[in-house]
Amino acid sequence: MATLESLHFDNGFARLPEAYYSRVCPTPVPGPYLVCYSPEALALLDLDPGEMARPELIETLAGNRLLPGMDTLAALYAGHQFGHYVPQLGDGRAILLGEVRNAKGEGWEVQIKGGGRTPYSRGGDGRAVLRSSIREFLCSEAMHALGIPTTRALAIVGSDHPVYREDEETAALVTRLAPSFVRFGSFEVFYYRNQVEPIRQLADYVIARYYPELADLADPYPEFLRQVALRTAELMAQWQAVGFSHGVMNTDNMSILGLTLDYGPFGFLDAFDPGFICNHSDTGGRYAFDQQPDVAAWNLTKLAQALVPLMSVETASQAIGDYPQAFGRAYLGRMQAKLGLAPGDDTVSLIMDVLQLLAQNRVDYTIFMRRLCDFDSTAGALNAPLRDLFIDRAAFDAWAARYGAALRRQGSQDTERAPAQRRVNPKYILRNHLAETAIRRAADQRDYSEIERLRRLLTRPYDEQPEFETYAAEPPDWARTIEVSCSS
Ligand code: AMP
Ligand code: MG
Repeated sequence: MATLESLHFDNGFARLPEAYYSRVCPTPVPGPYLVCYSPEALALLDLDPGEMARPELIETLAGNRLLPGMDTLAALYAGHQFGHYVPQLGDGRAILLGEVRNAKGEGWEVQIKGGGRTPYSRGGDGRAVLRSSIREFLCSEAMHALGIPTTRALAIVGSDHPVYREDEETAALVTRLAPSFVRFGSFEVFYYRNQVEPIRQLADYVIARYYPELADLADPYPEFLRQVALRTAELMAQWQAVGFSHGVMNTDNMSILGLTLDYGPFGFLDAFDPGFICNHSDTGGRYAFDQQPDVAAWNLTKLAQALVPLMSVETASQAIGDYPQAFGRAYLGRMQAKLGLAPGDDTVSLIMDVLQLLAQNRVDYTIFMRRLCDFDSTAGALNAPLRDLFIDRAAFDAWAARYGAALRRQGSQDTERAPAQRRVNPKYILRNHLAETAIRRAADQRDYSEIERLRRLLTRPYDEQPEFETYAAEPPDWARTIEVSCSS
Protein backbone atom coordinates (compact mmCIF):
# COMPACT_ATOMS: atom_id res chain seq x y z
CA MET A 1 0.00 0.00 0.00
CA ALA A 2 1.33 3.38 -1.02
CA THR A 3 1.14 6.67 0.77
CA LEU A 4 0.96 9.95 -1.07
CA GLU A 5 4.70 10.33 -0.70
CA SER A 6 5.54 6.83 -1.89
CA LEU A 7 3.50 6.90 -5.12
CA HIS A 8 5.77 5.90 -7.96
CA PHE A 9 5.49 8.33 -10.87
CA ASP A 10 6.75 7.23 -14.26
CA ASN A 11 5.47 9.84 -16.70
CA GLY A 12 5.49 8.26 -20.15
CA PHE A 13 3.49 10.92 -21.98
CA ALA A 14 5.58 13.72 -20.50
CA ARG A 15 8.70 12.12 -21.98
CA LEU A 16 7.35 12.67 -25.48
CA PRO A 17 8.55 15.86 -27.19
CA GLU A 18 6.79 19.08 -26.27
CA ALA A 19 4.90 19.06 -29.59
CA TYR A 20 2.20 17.04 -27.86
CA TYR A 21 1.46 19.22 -24.85
CA SER A 22 2.17 22.37 -22.89
CA ARG A 23 3.71 22.21 -19.47
CA VAL A 24 1.34 23.99 -17.14
CA CYS A 25 0.58 24.03 -13.45
CA PRO A 26 -2.93 23.82 -12.01
CA THR A 27 -4.38 27.04 -10.63
CA PRO A 28 -5.15 26.56 -6.93
CA VAL A 29 -8.73 26.77 -5.67
CA PRO A 30 -9.66 28.17 -2.25
CA GLY A 31 -10.66 25.80 0.56
CA PRO A 32 -10.94 22.45 -1.23
CA TYR A 33 -13.00 19.75 0.47
CA LEU A 34 -13.62 16.11 -0.36
CA VAL A 35 -17.01 15.38 -1.92
CA CYS A 36 -16.66 11.67 -2.64
CA TYR A 37 -14.18 9.06 -3.74
CA SER A 38 -14.07 5.59 -5.22
CA PRO A 39 -12.21 2.99 -3.15
CA GLU A 40 -11.96 0.77 -6.27
CA ALA A 41 -10.25 3.52 -8.23
CA LEU A 42 -8.00 4.30 -5.27
CA ALA A 43 -6.89 0.68 -5.29
CA LEU A 44 -5.68 1.05 -8.90
CA LEU A 45 -2.98 3.36 -7.55
CA ASP A 46 -2.33 1.06 -4.56
CA LEU A 47 -3.15 4.07 -2.38
CA ASP A 48 -3.92 3.26 1.23
CA PRO A 49 -7.59 4.24 1.90
CA GLY A 50 -6.38 5.95 5.09
CA GLU A 51 -4.71 8.52 2.86
CA MET A 52 -8.14 9.93 1.94
CA ALA A 53 -8.32 11.49 5.39
CA ARG A 54 -5.17 13.55 4.80
CA PRO A 55 -5.58 17.21 3.92
CA GLU A 56 -2.46 16.85 1.75
CA LEU A 57 -4.33 14.46 -0.54
CA ILE A 58 -7.29 16.83 -0.91
CA GLU A 59 -4.86 19.65 -1.67
CA THR A 60 -3.20 17.48 -4.28
CA LEU A 61 -6.45 16.50 -5.99
CA ALA A 62 -7.44 20.16 -5.98
CA GLY A 63 -4.26 21.05 -7.83
CA ASN A 64 -3.08 23.17 -4.90
CA ARG A 65 -0.09 21.01 -4.13
CA LEU A 66 2.17 18.95 -6.33
CA LEU A 67 3.93 15.76 -5.36
CA PRO A 68 7.54 14.95 -6.13
CA GLY A 69 7.66 13.06 -9.41
CA MET A 70 4.64 14.77 -10.95
CA ASP A 71 5.16 16.43 -14.32
CA THR A 72 2.04 18.46 -15.00
CA LEU A 73 0.85 19.23 -18.50
CA ALA A 74 -2.12 19.90 -20.77
CA ALA A 75 -2.29 17.74 -23.89
CA LEU A 76 -2.74 19.16 -27.38
CA TYR A 77 -5.39 17.75 -29.70
CA ALA A 78 -7.83 18.84 -32.36
CA GLY A 79 -11.01 17.24 -33.57
CA HIS A 80 -14.17 17.17 -35.60
CA GLN A 81 -16.93 18.75 -33.55
CA PHE A 82 -20.43 18.11 -34.88
CA GLY A 83 -18.89 17.31 -38.25
CA HIS A 84 -16.63 20.35 -38.51
CA TYR A 85 -12.90 20.31 -38.07
CA VAL A 86 -11.59 22.51 -35.25
CA PRO A 87 -7.81 22.88 -35.67
CA GLN A 88 -7.00 23.35 -32.02
CA LEU A 89 -8.72 22.05 -28.95
CA GLY A 90 -6.57 20.40 -26.29
CA ASP A 91 -6.99 20.03 -22.55
CA GLY A 92 -8.66 23.35 -21.80
CA ARG A 93 -9.34 22.49 -18.21
CA ALA A 94 -7.90 19.02 -17.67
CA ILE A 95 -4.36 18.81 -16.35
CA LEU A 96 -2.36 15.63 -16.38
CA LEU A 97 -0.57 15.40 -13.04
CA GLY A 98 1.51 12.36 -13.91
CA GLU A 99 1.42 8.63 -14.45
CA VAL A 100 1.49 6.30 -11.47
CA ARG A 101 2.99 2.85 -11.84
CA ASN A 102 1.29 0.41 -9.49
CA ALA A 103 2.63 -2.80 -7.98
CA LYS A 104 1.17 -4.83 -10.84
CA GLY A 105 3.23 -2.75 -13.23
CA GLU A 106 0.20 -0.96 -14.67
CA GLY A 107 0.53 2.68 -15.59
CA TRP A 108 -2.37 4.95 -14.61
CA GLU A 109 -2.41 8.53 -15.79
CA VAL A 110 -3.85 10.83 -13.14
CA GLN A 111 -5.67 13.84 -14.48
CA ILE A 112 -7.63 16.56 -12.74
CA LYS A 113 -10.54 18.00 -14.70
CA GLY A 114 -11.31 21.58 -13.75
CA GLY A 115 -7.76 22.49 -12.73
CA GLY A 116 -7.71 25.97 -14.20
CA ARG A 117 -6.80 27.64 -17.48
CA THR A 118 -4.29 26.16 -19.91
CA PRO A 119 -2.95 27.36 -23.27
CA TYR A 120 -5.89 25.45 -24.81
CA SER A 121 -8.67 27.04 -22.76
CA ARG A 122 -9.72 29.40 -25.57
CA GLY A 123 -12.55 31.47 -24.02
CA GLY A 124 -13.15 29.05 -21.16
CA ASP A 125 -12.40 29.48 -17.49
CA GLY A 126 -10.64 26.14 -17.07
CA ARG A 127 -13.10 25.09 -14.41
CA ALA A 128 -15.75 22.42 -14.01
CA VAL A 129 -18.88 22.73 -11.90
CA LEU A 130 -19.96 20.39 -9.12
CA ARG A 131 -23.07 19.30 -11.03
CA SER A 132 -21.23 17.90 -14.06
CA SER A 133 -18.40 16.53 -11.92
CA ILE A 134 -20.87 14.42 -9.94
CA ARG A 135 -22.32 13.07 -13.19
CA GLU A 136 -18.87 12.21 -14.56
CA PHE A 137 -17.72 10.62 -11.30
CA LEU A 138 -20.78 8.43 -10.89
CA CYS A 139 -21.05 7.40 -14.51
CA SER A 140 -17.36 6.50 -14.90
CA GLU A 141 -17.51 4.12 -11.98
CA ALA A 142 -20.95 2.80 -12.96
CA MET A 143 -19.80 2.03 -16.51
CA HIS A 144 -16.79 0.18 -15.17
CA ALA A 145 -19.01 -1.91 -12.92
CA LEU A 146 -21.22 -2.69 -15.92
CA GLY A 147 -18.11 -4.07 -17.63
CA ILE A 148 -17.90 -1.25 -20.19
CA PRO A 149 -14.43 0.14 -20.96
CA THR A 150 -14.12 3.64 -19.55
CA THR A 151 -11.85 6.18 -17.97
CA ARG A 152 -12.13 5.91 -14.17
CA ALA A 153 -12.90 8.50 -11.51
CA LEU A 154 -10.97 8.58 -8.28
CA ALA A 155 -12.57 11.47 -6.43
CA ILE A 156 -14.30 14.81 -6.52
CA VAL A 157 -13.06 17.75 -4.55
CA GLY A 158 -15.20 20.84 -4.32
CA SER A 159 -14.46 24.49 -3.63
CA ASP A 160 -16.69 27.47 -2.95
CA HIS A 161 -14.90 29.29 -5.77
CA PRO A 162 -17.77 30.62 -7.94
CA VAL A 163 -18.07 29.44 -11.53
CA TYR A 164 -20.43 31.14 -13.96
CA ARG A 165 -22.49 29.06 -16.36
CA GLU A 166 -26.20 29.79 -17.00
CA ASP A 167 -26.25 30.56 -13.26
CA GLU A 168 -23.58 30.93 -10.63
CA GLU A 169 -22.38 27.52 -9.48
CA THR A 170 -19.44 26.23 -7.47
CA ALA A 171 -16.24 24.68 -8.76
CA ALA A 172 -15.24 21.06 -8.45
CA LEU A 173 -12.46 18.87 -9.76
CA VAL A 174 -12.80 15.25 -10.80
CA THR A 175 -9.70 13.13 -10.64
CA ARG A 176 -9.76 10.92 -13.71
CA LEU A 177 -7.63 7.84 -14.27
CA ALA A 178 -6.87 6.08 -17.54
CA PRO A 179 -3.97 4.17 -19.03
CA SER A 180 -3.94 6.98 -21.62
CA PHE A 181 -6.10 9.93 -22.60
CA VAL A 182 -4.88 9.97 -26.23
CA ARG A 183 -7.78 10.60 -28.60
CA PHE A 184 -8.44 10.39 -32.33
CA GLY A 185 -7.98 14.16 -32.29
CA SER A 186 -4.45 13.78 -30.89
CA PHE A 187 -3.48 12.46 -34.34
CA GLU A 188 -5.72 14.73 -36.40
CA VAL A 189 -4.02 17.88 -35.15
CA PHE A 190 -0.74 16.93 -36.86
CA TYR A 191 -2.34 15.62 -40.02
CA TYR A 192 -3.99 18.97 -40.69
CA ARG A 193 -0.72 20.73 -39.95
CA ASN A 194 1.03 18.50 -42.48
CA GLN A 195 3.41 17.19 -39.83
CA VAL A 196 4.15 13.55 -40.55
CA GLU A 197 6.85 12.80 -37.97
CA PRO A 198 4.72 13.72 -34.95
CA ILE A 199 2.00 11.38 -36.24
CA ARG A 200 4.49 8.55 -36.54
CA GLN A 201 6.05 9.19 -33.16
CA LEU A 202 2.70 9.32 -31.40
CA ALA A 203 1.61 6.12 -33.14
CA ASP A 204 4.87 4.46 -32.09
CA TYR A 205 4.32 5.58 -28.49
CA VAL A 206 0.72 4.34 -28.38
CA ILE A 207 1.63 1.03 -30.02
CA ALA A 208 4.62 0.39 -27.76
CA ARG A 209 2.67 1.22 -24.60
CA TYR A 210 -0.86 0.03 -25.32
CA TYR A 211 -0.71 -2.33 -28.30
CA PRO A 212 2.63 -4.03 -27.52
CA GLU A 213 1.63 -7.19 -29.40
CA LEU A 214 1.90 -5.15 -32.63
CA ALA A 215 5.27 -3.61 -31.89
CA ASP A 216 7.26 -6.30 -33.67
CA LEU A 217 5.32 -6.21 -36.92
CA ALA A 218 7.33 -4.93 -39.87
CA ASP A 219 4.55 -2.43 -40.56
CA PRO A 220 2.45 -2.10 -37.39
CA TYR A 221 0.37 0.97 -38.40
CA PRO A 222 -2.40 -0.68 -40.45
CA GLU A 223 -2.93 -3.33 -37.78
CA PHE A 224 -2.92 -0.62 -35.09
CA LEU A 225 -5.72 1.20 -36.93
CA ARG A 226 -7.60 -2.07 -37.34
CA GLN A 227 -7.33 -2.80 -33.61
CA VAL A 228 -8.63 0.67 -32.73
CA ALA A 229 -11.57 0.08 -35.08
CA LEU A 230 -12.28 -3.29 -33.44
CA ARG A 231 -12.13 -1.86 -29.92
CA THR A 232 -14.41 0.97 -31.00
CA ALA A 233 -16.86 -1.55 -32.48
CA GLU A 234 -16.87 -3.47 -29.22
CA LEU A 235 -17.47 -0.26 -27.25
CA MET A 236 -20.35 0.79 -29.48
CA ALA A 237 -21.93 -2.66 -29.12
CA GLN A 238 -21.75 -2.26 -25.35
CA TRP A 239 -23.25 1.24 -25.39
CA GLN A 240 -26.11 0.15 -27.65
CA ALA A 241 -26.80 -3.00 -25.67
CA VAL A 242 -26.98 -1.23 -22.32
CA GLY A 243 -28.81 1.82 -23.70
CA PHE A 244 -26.10 4.44 -23.13
CA SER A 245 -26.02 7.63 -25.12
CA HIS A 246 -22.78 9.63 -24.99
CA GLY A 247 -24.10 12.89 -26.33
CA VAL A 248 -20.93 14.47 -27.77
CA MET A 249 -19.20 11.95 -30.01
CA ASN A 250 -16.75 14.42 -31.47
CA THR A 251 -13.43 12.90 -32.56
CA ASP A 252 -11.69 14.64 -29.66
CA ASN A 253 -13.84 12.55 -27.32
CA MET A 254 -12.95 9.24 -28.99
CA SER A 255 -10.35 7.26 -27.04
CA ILE A 256 -7.55 5.55 -28.93
CA LEU A 257 -7.97 2.70 -26.43
CA GLY A 258 -11.69 2.26 -27.05
CA LEU A 259 -12.66 3.70 -23.66
CA THR A 260 -15.75 5.72 -22.90
CA LEU A 261 -14.24 9.19 -22.58
CA ASP A 262 -15.55 12.62 -21.52
CA TYR A 263 -18.86 12.41 -19.76
CA GLY A 264 -20.85 15.50 -20.59
CA PRO A 265 -24.55 15.42 -21.42
CA PHE A 266 -24.71 11.61 -21.52
CA GLY A 267 -27.88 9.69 -20.69
CA PHE A 268 -29.17 6.17 -20.29
CA LEU A 269 -32.40 5.28 -22.05
CA ASP A 270 -35.43 5.11 -19.82
CA ALA A 271 -38.26 4.33 -22.26
CA PHE A 272 -36.75 2.69 -25.33
CA ASP A 273 -36.45 5.42 -27.95
CA PRO A 274 -34.00 4.83 -30.80
CA GLY A 275 -33.96 8.53 -31.67
CA PHE A 276 -33.20 9.59 -28.08
CA ILE A 277 -31.08 12.77 -27.97
CA CYS A 278 -29.55 13.27 -24.55
CA ASN A 279 -27.75 16.50 -25.40
CA HIS A 280 -30.16 19.41 -25.26
CA SER A 281 -27.81 21.40 -27.53
CA ASP A 282 -27.79 18.71 -30.28
CA THR A 283 -30.79 20.08 -32.12
CA GLY A 284 -30.12 18.09 -35.31
CA GLY A 285 -29.82 14.79 -33.48
CA ARG A 286 -26.39 14.08 -34.94
CA TYR A 287 -25.52 12.12 -31.80
CA ALA A 288 -28.93 10.51 -31.23
CA PHE A 289 -28.81 7.07 -29.61
CA ASP A 290 -29.31 5.05 -32.80
CA GLN A 291 -26.74 7.10 -34.70
CA GLN A 292 -23.85 6.18 -32.40
CA PRO A 293 -22.52 3.13 -34.29
CA ASP A 294 -22.50 5.09 -37.56
CA VAL A 295 -20.96 8.15 -35.95
CA ALA A 296 -18.16 5.99 -34.60
CA ALA A 297 -17.62 4.65 -38.13
CA TRP A 298 -17.45 8.20 -39.45
CA ASN A 299 -15.03 9.16 -36.68
CA LEU A 300 -12.86 6.19 -37.61
CA THR A 301 -12.63 7.50 -41.17
CA LYS A 302 -11.23 10.73 -39.69
CA LEU A 303 -8.66 8.77 -37.70
CA ALA A 304 -7.80 6.71 -40.78
CA GLN A 305 -7.29 9.89 -42.75
CA ALA A 306 -4.99 11.26 -40.07
CA LEU A 307 -2.91 8.07 -40.32
CA VAL A 308 -2.70 8.09 -44.12
CA PRO A 309 0.79 9.60 -43.99
CA LEU A 310 1.81 6.24 -42.48
CA MET A 311 0.08 4.03 -45.07
CA SER A 312 -1.74 4.17 -48.37
CA VAL A 313 -5.32 5.35 -48.59
CA GLU A 314 -6.41 1.84 -49.64
CA THR A 315 -4.65 0.24 -46.68
CA ALA A 316 -6.20 2.74 -44.29
CA SER A 317 -9.71 2.18 -45.58
CA GLN A 318 -9.19 -1.59 -45.48
CA ALA A 319 -8.01 -1.33 -41.88
CA ILE A 320 -11.29 0.22 -40.76
CA GLY A 321 -13.30 -1.82 -43.25
CA ASP A 322 -14.05 -4.55 -40.71
CA TYR A 323 -15.80 -2.12 -38.38
CA PRO A 324 -19.41 -2.62 -39.57
CA GLN A 325 -19.18 -6.39 -39.38
CA ALA A 326 -17.33 -6.31 -36.07
CA PHE A 327 -19.95 -4.00 -34.61
CA GLY A 328 -22.79 -6.13 -35.97
CA ARG A 329 -21.29 -9.31 -34.56
CA ALA A 330 -20.57 -7.81 -31.17
CA TYR A 331 -23.98 -6.17 -30.88
CA LEU A 332 -25.82 -9.30 -31.94
CA GLY A 333 -23.82 -11.37 -29.47
CA ARG A 334 -24.71 -9.02 -26.62
CA MET A 335 -28.39 -8.84 -27.53
CA GLN A 336 -28.58 -12.63 -27.84
CA ALA A 337 -27.14 -12.92 -24.37
CA LYS A 338 -29.59 -10.36 -23.02
CA LEU A 339 -32.46 -12.38 -24.45
CA GLY A 340 -30.89 -15.66 -23.41
CA LEU A 341 -31.05 -16.97 -26.96
CA ALA A 342 -28.54 -19.04 -28.88
CA PRO A 343 -27.87 -18.06 -32.50
CA GLY A 344 -30.71 -19.45 -34.58
CA ASP A 345 -33.17 -18.86 -37.40
CA ASP A 346 -35.50 -16.58 -35.53
CA THR A 347 -32.99 -14.94 -33.16
CA VAL A 348 -32.27 -11.80 -35.18
CA SER A 349 -35.91 -11.12 -35.93
CA LEU A 350 -36.88 -11.70 -32.30
CA ILE A 351 -34.36 -9.05 -31.27
CA MET A 352 -35.36 -6.54 -33.96
CA ASP A 353 -39.05 -7.08 -33.34
CA VAL A 354 -38.89 -6.69 -29.59
CA LEU A 355 -36.93 -3.45 -29.92
CA GLN A 356 -39.58 -2.16 -32.27
CA LEU A 357 -42.29 -3.16 -29.82
CA LEU A 358 -40.47 -1.50 -26.94
CA ALA A 359 -40.21 1.71 -28.98
CA GLN A 360 -43.86 1.65 -30.05
CA ASN A 361 -45.02 1.07 -26.50
CA ARG A 362 -42.40 3.36 -24.91
CA VAL A 363 -41.44 0.56 -22.53
CA ASP A 364 -38.59 1.13 -20.10
CA TYR A 365 -35.61 -0.65 -21.67
CA THR A 366 -33.75 -1.65 -18.50
CA ILE A 367 -36.86 -2.78 -16.64
CA PHE A 368 -38.03 -4.86 -19.60
CA MET A 369 -34.70 -6.61 -20.02
CA ARG A 370 -34.44 -7.33 -16.31
CA ARG A 371 -37.96 -8.76 -16.12
CA LEU A 372 -37.21 -10.84 -19.20
CA CYS A 373 -34.70 -12.79 -17.09
CA ASP A 374 -37.73 -14.35 -15.35
CA PHE A 375 -39.59 -15.20 -18.54
CA ASP A 376 -41.70 -18.35 -18.23
CA SER A 377 -41.19 -20.28 -21.46
CA THR A 378 -44.04 -22.73 -20.87
CA ALA A 379 -46.41 -22.67 -23.84
CA GLY A 380 -49.33 -20.34 -23.08
CA ALA A 381 -47.71 -18.73 -20.00
CA LEU A 382 -49.04 -15.22 -19.42
CA ASN A 383 -45.81 -13.53 -18.25
CA ALA A 384 -47.89 -10.80 -16.63
CA PRO A 385 -44.99 -8.71 -15.18
CA LEU A 386 -43.69 -8.22 -18.73
CA ARG A 387 -47.05 -8.00 -20.41
CA ASP A 388 -48.13 -5.21 -18.05
CA LEU A 389 -45.38 -3.00 -19.46
CA PHE A 390 -47.10 -2.83 -22.85
CA ILE A 391 -50.07 -0.83 -24.05
CA ASP A 392 -50.48 -3.19 -26.99
CA ARG A 393 -50.85 -6.45 -25.07
CA ALA A 394 -51.79 -8.46 -28.16
CA ALA A 395 -48.54 -7.47 -29.85
CA PHE A 396 -46.56 -8.49 -26.77
CA ASP A 397 -48.42 -11.82 -26.58
CA ALA A 398 -47.58 -12.56 -30.21
CA TRP A 399 -43.91 -11.79 -29.66
CA ALA A 400 -43.82 -13.73 -26.36
CA ALA A 401 -45.31 -16.78 -28.07
CA ARG A 402 -42.55 -16.72 -30.71
CA TYR A 403 -39.87 -16.08 -28.06
CA GLY A 404 -41.14 -18.92 -25.86
CA ALA A 405 -41.22 -21.27 -28.84
CA ALA A 406 -37.65 -20.33 -29.78
CA LEU A 407 -36.47 -20.98 -26.22
CA ARG A 408 -38.19 -24.35 -26.13
CA ARG A 409 -36.75 -25.25 -29.52
CA GLN A 410 -33.32 -24.39 -28.22
CA GLY A 411 -33.86 -26.56 -25.15
CA SER A 412 -33.36 -23.56 -22.87
CA GLN A 413 -34.21 -24.19 -19.20
CA ASP A 414 -35.76 -21.20 -17.44
CA THR A 415 -33.92 -21.88 -14.19
CA GLU A 416 -30.54 -22.02 -15.92
CA ARG A 417 -31.17 -19.12 -18.27
CA ALA A 418 -32.37 -16.67 -15.62
CA PRO A 419 -29.10 -16.28 -13.66
CA ALA A 420 -27.08 -16.02 -16.88
CA GLN A 421 -29.40 -13.32 -18.17
CA ARG A 422 -29.19 -11.43 -14.89
CA ARG A 423 -25.45 -11.19 -15.37
CA VAL A 424 -25.93 -9.21 -18.60
CA ASN A 425 -29.12 -7.26 -17.88
CA PRO A 426 -28.39 -4.71 -15.17
CA LYS A 427 -31.01 -3.90 -12.60
CA TYR A 428 -29.49 -0.52 -11.72
CA ILE A 429 -28.25 2.14 -14.12
CA LEU A 430 -27.42 5.80 -13.53
CA ARG A 431 -30.73 7.24 -14.57
CA ASN A 432 -30.79 11.02 -14.99
CA HIS A 433 -33.20 11.58 -12.14
CA LEU A 434 -31.03 9.58 -9.74
CA ALA A 435 -27.99 11.71 -10.57
CA GLU A 436 -30.15 14.83 -10.36
CA THR A 437 -31.30 13.99 -6.83
CA ALA A 438 -27.70 13.49 -5.71
CA ILE A 439 -26.70 16.76 -7.39
CA ARG A 440 -29.48 18.80 -5.77
CA ARG A 441 -28.67 17.51 -2.31
CA ALA A 442 -25.01 18.24 -2.81
CA ALA A 443 -25.58 21.71 -4.22
CA ASP A 444 -28.38 22.82 -1.90
CA GLN A 445 -27.46 21.15 1.38
CA ARG A 446 -23.80 20.13 1.06
CA ASP A 447 -25.08 16.65 1.68
CA TYR A 448 -22.95 14.17 -0.28
CA SER A 449 -24.47 10.99 1.14
CA GLU A 450 -26.66 10.39 -1.91
CA ILE A 451 -23.58 10.39 -4.15
CA GLU A 452 -22.02 7.73 -1.97
CA ARG A 453 -25.26 5.73 -1.91
CA LEU A 454 -25.46 5.77 -5.70
CA ARG A 455 -21.79 4.92 -6.08
CA ARG A 456 -22.19 1.86 -3.89
CA LEU A 457 -25.43 0.81 -5.55
CA LEU A 458 -23.99 1.12 -9.04
CA THR A 459 -20.86 -0.82 -8.13
CA ARG A 460 -23.10 -3.92 -8.20
CA PRO A 461 -25.51 -3.17 -11.05
CA TYR A 462 -26.38 -6.82 -11.75
CA ASP A 463 -27.17 -7.80 -8.14
CA GLU A 464 -30.59 -7.62 -6.55
CA GLN A 465 -30.36 -5.02 -3.80
CA PRO A 466 -33.85 -5.15 -2.25
CA GLU A 467 -33.30 -2.12 -0.03
CA PHE A 468 -32.81 -0.06 -3.22
CA GLU A 469 -35.83 -1.27 -5.17
CA THR A 470 -37.04 2.28 -5.85
CA TYR A 471 -33.71 3.05 -7.57
CA ALA A 472 -34.64 0.52 -10.25
CA ALA A 473 -38.00 2.13 -10.99
CA GLU A 474 -39.04 4.24 -13.96
CA PRO A 475 -38.29 7.96 -13.66
CA PRO A 476 -40.82 10.07 -11.76
CA ASP A 477 -42.79 12.75 -13.60
CA TRP A 478 -40.53 15.59 -12.50
CA ALA A 479 -37.61 13.95 -14.33
CA ARG A 480 -39.09 15.06 -17.65
CA THR A 481 -38.04 18.62 -16.95
CA ILE A 482 -34.34 17.78 -16.53
CA GLU A 483 -32.33 19.24 -19.37
CA VAL A 484 -28.73 18.29 -19.95
CA SER A 485 -26.57 20.47 -22.14
CA CYS A 486 -22.90 20.74 -23.01
CA SER A 487 -22.42 23.44 -20.38
CA SER A 488 -20.38 21.85 -17.67
P1 AMP B 1 -15.80 18.85 -24.14
O1 AMP B 1 -17.06 19.18 -24.88
O2 AMP B 1 -15.97 18.86 -22.64
O3 AMP B 1 -15.19 17.58 -24.61
O4 AMP B 1 -14.78 20.02 -24.44
C1 AMP B 1 -14.40 20.44 -25.72
C2 AMP B 1 -13.23 21.37 -25.61
O5 AMP B 1 -13.55 22.53 -24.86
C3 AMP B 1 -12.00 20.76 -24.93
O6 AMP B 1 -10.87 21.28 -25.54
C4 AMP B 1 -12.15 21.26 -23.51
O7 AMP B 1 -10.92 21.28 -22.83
C5 AMP B 1 -12.68 22.66 -23.74
N1 AMP B 1 -13.42 23.16 -22.59
C6 AMP B 1 -14.65 22.77 -22.18
N2 AMP B 1 -15.02 23.45 -21.09
C7 AMP B 1 -14.02 24.31 -20.79
C8 AMP B 1 -13.80 25.29 -19.78
N3 AMP B 1 -14.70 25.55 -18.84
N4 AMP B 1 -12.62 25.97 -19.80
C9 AMP B 1 -11.71 25.73 -20.75
N5 AMP B 1 -11.85 24.83 -21.72
C10 AMP B 1 -12.99 24.13 -21.75
MG1 MG C 1 -13.65 16.52 -24.61
